[in-house]
Amino acid sequence: MTQTEDKITLSTEDTPLVPMEKIVSLSKRRGFVYPNSEIYGGVSGIYDFGPLGVELRNNIRRYWWWSMVQTNDNVVGIEGNIITHPRVWEASGHVENFVDRLVECKNCKRRFRVDQLPKENLEQNKCPVCGGELGEPRVFNLMMETYIGVVEGERMKTYLRGEACQNIYLDYDNVQKSSRMQIPFGICQIGKAFRNEVTPGNFLFRQREFEQWDLQFFVHPSEMQKWFDYWRERRFEWYKGIINHKDRLRLRPHGPDELAHYAKQAFDIEYRTVLGWQEWEGIHWRQDWDLSRHSQFSGQDLSYTDPETKERYIPWIVETSGGVDRTFLNLLLDAYEEEPPSGKDKEGRTVLRLHPWFAPVKVAVLPLQKNKEELVTTARDIHKRLQRLMVSQYDDVANIGRRYRRQDEIGTPFCVTVDFQTLEDQTVTVRERDGMTQIRLQIKELPAYLLERVMWNYS
Ligand code: ATP
Repeated sequence: MTQTEDKITLSTEDTPLVPMEKIVSLSKRRGFVYPNSEIYGGVSGIYDFGPLGVELRNNIRRYWWWSMVQTNDNVVGIEGNIITHPRVWEASGHVENFVDRLVECKNCKRRFRVDQLPKENLEQNKCPVCGGELGEPRVFNLMMETYIGVVEGERMKTYLRGEACQNIYLDYDNVQKSSRMQIPFGICQIGKAFRNEVTPGNFLFRQREFEQWDLQFFVHPSEMQKWFDYWRERRFEWYKGIINHKDRLRLRPHGPDELAHYAKQAFDIEYRTVLGWQEWEGIHWRQDWDLSRHSQFSGQDLSYTDPETKERYIPWIVETSGGVDRTFLNLLLDAYEEEPPSGKDKEGRTVLRLHPWFAPVKVAVLPLQKNKEELVTTARDIHKRLQRLMVSQYDDVANIGRRYRRQDEIGTPFCVTVDFQTLEDQTVTVRERDGMTQIRLQIKELPAYLLERVMWNYS
């Protein structure tokens, strides 16, 4: 199936991939993502998140934090700022080396990153789209500049951080001492990063302002391999646990030409979409590079003394670095499905098979009819009580089938329907999104039933 065909069926061996336009259109129509400053014509590579988007995003962030920080005794979190001292970016190498090489086709004027051009196009200097001749590569630094201070001449030029993880190195010593952490231990952070990407595009995939999550895990050099293997496997399993299409996930080792000079190994966790196999998260062997550089540039000693052996050394680092926005996009691409009409649903439906953990709305409460006051009052009452525990939506507009479909399209895992039987025996119908199966439950059983299914840390 190609990108422009519009019918999708769920995963079998040879799974059709969801066209990006489907996700862009759903996102705007239902309030997940909007183009930033749209009324002024938008800004390429910058987006805003709508009411459902912000719920999904928060759930993604919270689940990562829960599994990386809250449930690991040897990992703590920080929240560093976007703006840092400009020397940070000299020490990190970003001022000098954070560049992309770009070529433009002389014929169709399309631009390509040199490192992303297919080998044969690079060798023949040929545009991969129209076959035209490519111009000379130009080099661009991706850092976004900004200034601290107001008085001309005293203003200090600095940068919006190009990657979030630098704050972790900057705060490492403070965290270690204030939290009395002993090696091995990790520091996590979720935060914004900014890059003047030369080829922004593909919706949320490559943006200029985006959010990253990082773990920097500090180890003794003799234990580097053990912890590298450990986090690589754990992170791979984590991603596998949140998607339906397990066959679209892989771990790709970096080739020798991709490795940083200090790295013995590196892996990308990749996911396959209409954009092909693309990085979702990187697992990096950073050795003592970052702390050594910051020691050197700041003049502060960032070495660690083992409390038992008294050995003094610069800790080595295992990094796992992924994107909140790529997770957001990949989850939508993974979950989206258009089901043809069937016995259960005569019209067919669009359904987001998001894991209930991530679903922006956990439950919708629907009175069977809008014009029966008792049904409406009972449904509103159930909604009000559930709302204190999870995101709940009350909806009484249109027939019940249409309301179910509206919820399916945004991934709501459960719909609770209040009907005439409810008024007699205090039971409601609970309809489940994926199988469209229905059961009857006592109203008082609803909170426990739903919480157990929508909260990852409930039981
Ligand atoms: P790429 O090779 O795609 O440019 P990268 O190797 O530069 O990515 P890192 O610097 O390792 O990426 O960033 C860590 C993670 O941040 C990536 O795995 C990705 O999920 C996310 N990310 C990086 N750049 C962007 C971007 N421009 N927009 C959205 N997410 C991004």
